[in-house]
Amino acid sequence: MVIDEILAYNERFLQQKPLPVIGHAPRKHMAVVTCMDCRLVQMFEQALGLERGDVLELRTAGATISQPERAGAANDLIRSLAGGIYLLGVREVAVIGHTQCGLAHANPTALTASMQALGVDAQTLIDKGGLGDVQGLTRWLGAFDDVHVNVQEVVKVIRNSPYLPKIPVHGLVIDINTGKLEMVDRGAV
Ligand SMILES: [Zn+2]
Repeated sequence: MVIDEILAYNERFLQQKPLPVIGHAPRKHMAVVTCMDCRLVQMFEQALGLERGDVLELRTAGATISQPERAGAANDLIRSLAGGIYLLGVREVAVIGHTQCGLAHANPTALTASMQALGVDAQTLIDKGGLGDVQGLTRWLGAFDDVHVNVQEVVKVIRNSPYLPKIPVHGLVIDINTGKLEMVDRGAV
């Protein structure tokens, strides 16, 4: 399994120069919300000029909050931002979606077929979770049509959350191939 490869690498890593000990409060007083896409690994920090200790990085599939979790904004992303803001000094948030996101135009047929192949019955889940239909299932997963619209919606949920104070929340989109950032919605001070 891949975990064995990782453990073997880690043994070698520990032989190198020890890491400097730094605090857990982000130096830039910022939290960044982005996607789990594997193409963002390393590239994301390099494109933004981020070093270890600079910002909090929160990743969700699609850099989104799924539709059923938006109401009331009492979801895991808001909880994480609250921890960052109240306990770690975060005073600015950037939501950064990306081009070619796997959750844009997610195919419901492919989704249910994949679930079925792995022994999970989509219909049972739809019924138990009160998701309505297969479209409801894709909404639960966080699927969206347009990355720009999604980023603006997530920004709005964060800005309007009663759990969070009024701080600048920006919405951006990063080009997954070039790393170019596009400002979609700049938060006010
Ligand atoms: Zn993505």
